[in-house]
Amino acid sequence: MIIINILHIGIDDTDSPDGMCTTFLASQIINRLNDNGIELLDYPRLIRLNPFARFKTRGNGGVSFQIENDDKAGLAREIVLEEVEKLSMFDCDNTNPGVIFYEGEITSEMEDYAFRAIYEFITIEDAEEFGNSIGCEIHKFKKGRGIIGSIAAISLPLTDFTFELLAYRSSQNYGTKRQIDYESVYEMDKQTFPDTFENIDYAEKYIAIEPKTPCPVLYGIRSNTVDALIKAKEIVKVNEPIVDWCIFKTNQHTDMHIQKAKNISSMKQFGCYEVVGEVKNKPSIIEGGHMFFYIKDESGEIECGAYEPTKNFRKIVSYLLPGDVIKVFGGIGEQNTFNIEKFQVIKLNDIIYQNPICECGKRMTSAGANKGFKCKKCGNKIESDDKVPVKIDRFLENKKFYETPVSARRHLSKPLSRM
Ligand SMILES: [Zn+2]
Repeated sequence: MIIINILHIGIDDTDSPDGMCTTFLASQIINRLNDNGIELLDYPRLIRLNPFARFKTRGNGGVSFQIENDDKAGLAREIVLEEVEKLSMFDCDNTNPGVIFYEGEITSEMEDYAFRAIYEFITIEDAEEFGNSIGCEIHKFKKGRGIIGSIAAISLPLTDFTFELLAYRSSQNYGTKRQIDYESVYEMDKQTFPDTFENIDYAEKYIAIEPKTPCPVLYGIRSNTVDALIKAKEIVKVNEPIVDWCIFKTNQHTDMHIQKAKNISSMKQFGCYEVVGEVKNKPSIIEGGHMFFYIKDESGEIECGAYEPTKNFRKIVSYLLPGDVIKVFGGIGEQNTFNIEKFQVIKLNDIIYQNPICECGKRMTSAGANKGFKCKKCGNKIESDDKVPVKIDRFLENKKFYETPVSARRHLSKPLSRM
């Protein structure tokens, strides 16, 4: 067996909301490496971190790749640092790039660090201390926040993974309307789904492969296999130049951010979980179109939200009734509300209790506390306060999963098409 000494390279936080994209920077680096006879050992990796990181810091994804640590590794390091210097959005206050070089095997300690970066928050200081302790070469630009994601991008084990093909625009077109032939995207989805996924939100007529920011990405197609991506790229037609494209191996759509919570009260703010609870009250819509309800268990209760951008998912949520037992998947946001990404029905409550029906056929009304029921039509009275159980038909189905639409889906959230 040949043992290759590996150099791991991690890069993060080079972009800003106004431009650039760390994946594009990586693809530029990879091109220059290839021009110098340096090949990657595997696909470059795009690793998404805690989706709530944006509330505390910016940036929630890093890029990494591996090369052989041979006599050309020194040149590779120079190329990486040069390109980060050249292409990062240094003018943006919130852009604080970090680059990591690490030689050797990924240890279990590093894997633990990566999961912490996905589940929790890591400070720049903690990341630097950890990086030093494992012998990383650390390069911080400005505040160097990118080292947090860079170390995670190198270290995360990918037991489940997907691929994303990113096509890049000519720089003169940045910020202009993307010239994508939408018909061809529908055709691509028809021919390659479910090997590719998250292409189109049919209900919203939303083309999900098209970014909404002025970044260099023309489109990004997500898939379980590289073959499906190659096929998809051939089908999608665009009316502007593609200057480059690159396939990344990623933890997107794997639910890797979700931890199994023991119970409701054990969950922490900004964490992402799956947890089972009983619906406490009927979901209702508040101002702004957001829908809320509570779930409870023996440990406590938490408010759950299906927000306006989740569109028709709110309609599904509205069918929940008190007494339903559901497993919710999602994360706890700024308002301490559980943002639902999807839910599974564990046990529907198909019995509701209603006022009795009078002999005359009219439903009776309460005659007051502990005074039974009375009929407003014929004046009949019943002394008992017992409501009557009625079996009802439910729109929702036991064991079934229900998810937010493609247009509202988070990078890490696993779609039902992958489950
Ligand atoms: Zn009556």
